[in-house]
Amino acid sequence: ETGRVKHFIRTIIDEDLASGKVEKVHTRFPPEPNGYLHLGHAKSICLNFGLAEEYSGQCNLRLDDTNPVKEDVEYVESIKEDVRWLGFDWQDRQFFASDYFERLYGYAEKLISMGKAYVDDLSAEEIRKYRGTLTEPGTESPYRSRGVDENLDLFRRMRAGEFEDGSRVLRAKIDMTHPNVVLRDPTIYRIRRAHHHRTGDAWCIYPMYDFAHCLSDAIEGITHSVCTLEFENNRALYDWVLDTLGIAPRPHQYEFARLNLTYTVLSKRKLIQLVQEGHVSGWDDPRMPTLSGIRRRGYPAAALREFCERIGVAKADSTVDIALLEHCVRENLNAAAPRVLGVLDPVKVVITNYPEDLVEEFEMPYHPEDESMGSRKVPFCRELYIEREDFMEEPPAKYFRLAPGREVRLRFSYYVTCQDVVKDENGTITEIHCTYDPETRGGWSKDGRKVKGTLHWVSARHALPVEVRLYDHLFSKTDPMDVEDDGTFLDNLNPDSLTVLTDCRVEPSLADMKPGTVCQFERKGYFCADVKDSRPGHPVFNRTASLRDSWAK
Ligand code: ATP
Ligand code: MG
Ligand code: MG
Repeated sequence: ETGRVKHFIRTIIDEDLASGKVEKVHTRFPPEPNGYLHLGHAKSICLNFGLAEEYSGQCNLRLDDTNPVKEDVEYVESIKEDVRWLGFDWQDRQFFASDYFERLYGYAEKLISMGKAYVDDLSAEEIRKYRGTLTEPGTESPYRSRGVDENLDLFRRMRAGEFEDGSRVLRAKIDMTHPNVVLRDPTIYRIRRAHHHRTGDAWCIYPMYDFAHCLSDAIEGITHSVCTLEFENNRALYDWVLDTLGIAPRPHQYEFARLNLTYTVLSKRKLIQLVQEGHVSGWDDPRMPTLSGIRRRGYPAAALREFCERIGVAKADSTVDIALLEHCVRENLNAAAPRVLGVLDPVKVVITNYPEDLVEEFEMPYHPEDESMGSRKVPFCRELYIEREDFMEEPPAKYFRLAPGREVRLRFSYYVTCQDVVKDENGTITEIHCTYDPETRGGWSKDGRKVKGTLHWVSARHALPVEVRLYDHLFSKTDPMDVEDDGTFLDNLNPDSLTVLTDCRVEPSLADMKPGTVCQFERKGYFCADVKDSRPGHPVFNRTASLRDSWAK
C-alpha cells in the first residue's frame, strides 16, 4: 500500500500527543442503524479505525440508535458484517447509544437544575418560526422563563408519558440571538411513542443527535470525534453541552469532507428508495455503492482501504472520480486474481484436421508473474468455442484476430488457420472451420513464424455453461443529482447498468469455484462467482471490472 499522507487530523493528533493533551487516541465509528453502509462510510471507518491502529489507540463501534422510527436490528447486523469485512475489529468495544438513555436523561435533568434547559410547549412549526434566520435573530419562547421546579416536573412527566407526541420538547437555554442558529435554544429531547429495537417501549422521549452524540463520546472516553463537514456548525453545541455540564477531560469534534463519487449517490435515504422501489435487486445488488453491494460484485476489501488512503482526508468538499476506485480494484486484482478462460459470447470452432476422439490437456499457469498460484489442466478437443467478436469475415486493417485464411494462436495450445465458415439461413455464422498445425503445440512454432492474434477458447465438449452479469454505472450522469426542475435523481438511472448473458462458457475448472472468489477471464475482465445465485457446479459470475482502466493519473 502507498505511503501515508499526513492529513490534518494526523497533525492534530500528533500535536495532542506531543502536548500531553491526550495520552491515548480513542476514536469511534458511529453509524445509525437505519440502512446499509456505503462507500462514504468506508472512508469514515478507515479513518477512525485506521487512526486507532496507527497510534496504538482504540476505536469503538457505536450504534447511534437514538431515533427508533427508522432503525432496525437487520441494519445492526449488516453494519457489523461490513466493518469486519473491511478488515477492522472493535473487539469488545461495541456500544449502543441507547445503552446510555438513562444517563443521558440524568444529564438532561442536570441541565434543567442548572437553569440551562426548559420545557417548551410551542409546536414544531412555531419553534421553527421563532428560530429566526441567518440574517434575523430569533425570538424567545414564552415558556423560556419557566422555573427549575416546573421544568423538572414537566420533564419527568414527559418521560412518564403524560403528554402527547409533539406537544412538548426539552430545549437547551442558550441564546436566541446567537449568530450560529444551531445555538438558538436547540431541542434536546422530544416525545415520540415509537418502539425501539433494543429498549422496546421503555421510553417515550428520545434525545436528539446533538445532545446524545457528544455525551456518548464523553461516556466512552473518546478523544477525537471525527465527523463530516455538515456538522461544523454543530460543533459549538457539542462544546456547549460538555462544557456546561463540566465534563473533563472531554472529547473534541473535528470535521472532514465527506466522500462524494461520480456516477454515485451516497445517501442512505436515496439508497433506501432505490431498494424499496425495486430499481435494484436489494441492498447488496452489485451495482449499489453499499459495502455489501461491492463485496458481492467482487471488490476486494484491501482495494477499498487503499482507495480510502489515496483520497486522503481534506477539509473541503470535493468529488472523487469513481475511476480511481476502479483503478484500485484492478491494481489489486491484477496481482491477486487467477487467470482462467471464459467465453462470453461463444461461436463454435471446428478443427477439421484434429482427431475426433482426442482430448489433450494443457497445463496453464494461474498467473503469468506469480508461480506460487500454481496451474491447472485445461482440456482441448476438436470443437471449441471462441468469442464471436474474435472472428471477422472481412476484417478491417489492424484487426489481428481470426479471419478467413488467417492464422492465430489459441492461448497455450495451437496455431489454427481459418479455412471456411458455416452460416444459418439468416447469415449468422454458426461454425468456423479451421485447421491446426500440430507442430505448434503449446502455442509457439519452431520455425519462428509470427501470428499476431492470441485468442482465448474453451473446449465445446468440456466447457461449463454459465450465466454472466455485466455491470455499468447505476447512473448515467457524473452527478446523479443534476436533474431537471421537476425531476429526481431516478431520472438519471442508467437503463443499461445490467446486462445478463445466459449462454457463456467457461473452462471446467470453474465448476467448483468458491462463491465470492474473483478470477480474471483472460482478455475479458475480472469476474466473481456470485454468493447468492451460484449453485454447486453452476456458478453465476458478476463482472467485477473490465480490464480497461480509465483512471487518468
Ligand atoms: P447518510 O448521509 O448516507 O444518511 P449518515 O451520515 O446519516 O449517512 P451515519 O450512519 O450517521 O450516516 O454515519 C456514520 C458515520 O459515517 C458518520 O460519522 C458520518 O459522518 C460518516 N459518513 C457518512 N457518510 C459519509 C461520507 N459520504 N463520507 C464520509 N463519511 C461519511
Ligand atoms: Mg446520521
Ligand atoms: Mg445523513
